[in-house]
Amino acid sequence: MAFQIFNKGGSARVSDKKRGNGDAQHTHQNSEVQAGETTSGLLDVSSVKVPETGGFKEEELPSIPKLPPFPSFISSASSGQSDTVSGATGEKDELREKVSENSENVDAESSAEEADNRQPHLSDAVSPPRALNFVNKNLPKADPSSETDKELQKRQELQTVVQEALLKNGKPAKPKLAYNTDYTSPTFFKELFDNGNVCITAPGGSLPIKEDTRQLLALFSNGRFFVCETYKFDGKVLGFEYLAKKRRLQIGKPEYVPMQTLRALYEYAAQNGYAVETDKNEEQEQEQARMQRDFITIVARAAAMHVSDIHIVVAEHTTVMFRVNGLMQTEMEYNKDWGESFVRAAFASADISDSNYAQNEYQAAQKLGRTPLRGSHGKLVLPRNLLGIRLQFNPIAFGTRYVIMRLLYAEDSSSTATGLEALGFTEREMDFFYQLRGAPTGITIISGPTGSGKSTTLQRNMIQMLKERNYETNLITVEDPPEYPIPGARQMPVTNASIEEAKEREFTKALSAALRSDPDSLMIGEVRTLSAADLAFRGALSGHNVWTTLHANSAPAILMRLKDLGVEDFKLRDPEIIKGLLAQRLFRKLCPYCRVPATQRLNTPSVMRLREAFGDIGVESSFLRGKGCKHCDFRGVKGRIAVAEIILPDATFLDLLMKGETKKAINYWINDLNGMTLREVALSHMFRGIIDVDEVERWTGFLNQVIVG
Ligand SMILES: [Zn+2]
Repeated sequence: MAFQIFNKGGSARVSDKKRGNGDAQHTHQNSEVQAGETTSGLLDVSSVKVPETGGFKEEELPSIPKLPPFPSFISSASSGQSDTVSGATGEKDELREKVSENSENVDAESSAEEADNRQPHLSDAVSPPRALNFVNKNLPKADPSSETDKELQKRQELQTVVQEALLKNGKPAKPKLAYNTDYTSPTFFKELFDNGNVCITAPGGSLPIKEDTRQLLALFSNGRFFVCETYKFDGKVLGFEYLAKKRRLQIGKPEYVPMQTLRALYEYAAQNGYAVETDKNEEQEQEQARMQRDFITIVARAAAMHVSDIHIVVAEHTTVMFRVNGLMQTEMEYNKDWGESFVRAAFASADISDSNYAQNEYQAAQKLGRTPLRGSHGKLVLPRNLLGIRLQFNPIAFGTRYVIMRLLYAEDSSSTATGLEALGFTEREMDFFYQLRGAPTGITIISGPTGSGKSTTLQRNMIQMLKERNYETNLITVEDPPEYPIPGARQMPVTNASIEEAKEREFTKALSAALRSDPDSLMIGEVRTLSAADLAFRGALSGHNVWTTLHANSAPAILMRLKDLGVEDFKLRDPEIIKGLLAQRLFRKLCPYCRVPATQRLNTPSVMRLREAFGDIGVESSFLRGKGCKHCDFRGVKGRIAVAEIILPDATFLDLLMKGETKKAINYWINDLNGMTLREVALSHMFRGIIDVDEVERWTGFLNQVIVG
């Protein structure tokens, strides 16, 4: 049903049925499909016969033939992305490694699943598998209550032999250890709890059961299952087995024991502290790690195909769809359990998200390209060509879940020419902007003198924000006058007024009107007065993402300036309100064709200061403005680069700053929040030969002088 929403044309297409043998050709076919109408690589669903047993049982979803178990498409993913995703071969290998790890996992899982289905360890009383029939036929009737210990032991030994033989033949059967089944042995309990085996039905265990059920049975994490011999067919026991199986817990054949043994078992567990399950977290972690790898694998495949959105619908089945060039195509189907774990893992992997995944709420999150997935211990990162992913989690009626992941590409051609990157911001700074755009509420303030390019930065950032949100956000701007067009934004004009005072009044009027117009985000050209500042903060306080500019000399100085204007302290101390503080300058870029190495002009005063501050290596890594050439109209410089210090403050930083401990605040920002001052950013550009030492000193002071604040 939900599925059909995305197949309005009724032409559900599976782009590549046999992904298992996916080779370069397959990938190629895929890209052909995105580019145009070619359907040669596609399966016309109507012509695909769905095998009666292999297809989906549900009537609503018959149109897609069953795909091989999920990650079998991977081989094509890794070959397909060689040029776009991985730069180095080492990475490719790493990916392949991840990938094969992945498929192993799933294979293991799916075969375990099959074994689960085929081997009714649920209860032999219900349906004895063939192997056990064999055992039972060749032994005195298995009625443990009348069986002698020796007989029981013999029977169970034979079971082990048979199961091992089955295993050798490649039939699904879990290896079984020869357990100590002498329940009266003094070492029985100790052995039972060996190797971290825990009783999961004990109080505090991972499978809580009622006390009266506990008197009848006990299940251990290694699958050993004890049942009170006089309650073999009790409804509670059978019901428990059913539940355990449904939860895919490992559960072995019941071992029938006297009731006092069960009681003693639980007492032993309680006394020896074995009741509390320790494995569970580890198990969950492994599960999460596996799902995170699936997450990365799918994203990598999508990124290689330059997919704009990945849609995941979790209903009776999980459907993963890619939107490529505006067209939605079904990429894979998998079961519901997988989908739910996937959604949870996706949420947990994000950098910025509401604290917990709540499946019945609308939630947003984002994942940055440069940081590893949360909880992956630094191992899993997004493909290189991704700047980040914006995730939107939506509930739909009837327990369906719907997740949209918008992939944001670093080399987005539409943004390189007109985006922030073109202004010269580094990846690190782009990440900061990205994080700030993702903040649902709060205020970000860009400072700088006139001509520092702050308005351009602001405008391009807002364009990027609208793009990332697919123009589904209400961005209202109030500028006097609107400097640049921002497609998709509502740019409210400020009524012309000739006197400065009237101008401010009109500006405030427009701003209050903007706030009443149900914006999601608000861009205020510049805050010059207290009334404008108050309205900006009102916007941030009432749940909007607010952006503005201000005249201030540095990022920390922004707060002082606002305080001087009359903004209350409590607003300036709150990191939920103050999201970002930026200071920006434009530096002239050296012409790469005629710049000269600094080593050629060691006697220039600025180079001498450079040497004093950074030694010979500093001089050797720097360039100076040359005489000029045809490439730079004989000026020696060409174009400008935006250099910015960006603070994403926390409470400590704001507190120090508001207490007037500017030096401490800045040190804290640099050391604890990993900050980089304007000078540090400028120096990093200088050592890459993009700007020269004179330009750095022009904006940040002499290099042999330490400046703080
Ligand atoms: Zn030149």
